[in-house]
Amino acid sequence: MTDIIFNLFPGNKKKALTMSYDDGTIHDRRLVEIFNKYGIRGTFHLNSGRLDQDGVIRSDEVAGLFDGHEVSCHTVSHPSLTLLAKESIYQEIAQDKLKLETLTNDIVRGMSYPYGTYDQNVIDVLRSAGMEYSRTTVSTHNFTLPADFMAWHPTCHHRENIVERLNDFLTRPRWNHLPVFYVWGHSYEFDRNNNWELIEEFCEKASGQEDVWYATNIEIVEYVQALRQLKISADGSKIYNPTATDVWVTVNKLPAGIPAGCTTLL
Ligand SMILES: [Zn+2]
Repeated sequence: MTDIIFNLFPGNKKKALTMSYDDGTIHDRRLVEIFNKYGIRGTFHLNSGRLDQDGVIRSDEVAGLFDGHEVSCHTVSHPSLTLLAKESIYQEIAQDKLKLETLTNDIVRGMSYPYGTYDQNVIDVLRSAGMEYSRTTVSTHNFTLPADFMAWHPTCHHRENIVERLNDFLTRPRWNHLPVFYVWGHSYEFDRNNNWELIEEFCEKASGQEDVWYATNIEIVEYVQALRQLKISADGSKIYNPTATDVWVTVNKLPAGIPAGCTTLL
């Protein structure tokens, strides 16, 4: 029997790092500059109804500022979604998606929960509005992937010893799952707490690692969804990737690329 293990990210990389920042305040400009300097990538969750207000980025800079990162929903007006009727939840997301898609000329498929509040009713409505993942504010303090991307618990907030955790993430020799280091926060916190050097140090140490995939939130979702859709023949001799995403797996202890849309003989 062929031994097939789902333990690789794109390009045979063994782990992934992704960042997630909420609310779209003007401090995102400085944060993006730091991310870009070190090749770190992430996702920016925006409230389309707050763009162009005092202290918030302008609509006309969204596409250019976040080029190379992901623009994602955070609702139009930042309500607690568990307090709203289904119709209002739907509008908060559908309208946000529409506006952000107009600004980026892209398809927006992800979000984070304002105040971190959600329940099954909220998740059901969000799915019907085209959302494929949503980040909570619950720290796992580990590097596991969620069972359900609609309740994607991050590793931790950036205030929670991220440099020490990064050291563990980069040096741990063995993993029994696909490891993702997922950091979240608000860029204005670095300004308020006068600790921009924290994120600068983190990004510098995290950068340029050969075995790390620097990804946006949706890229990780898409990759893991593709892995979960692979079809393997009963005798383990063939593997079919029905998705549009190239994936990598370990076959009999060796890395193997499985191109999108192809059946590969093992
Ligand atoms: Zn928020």
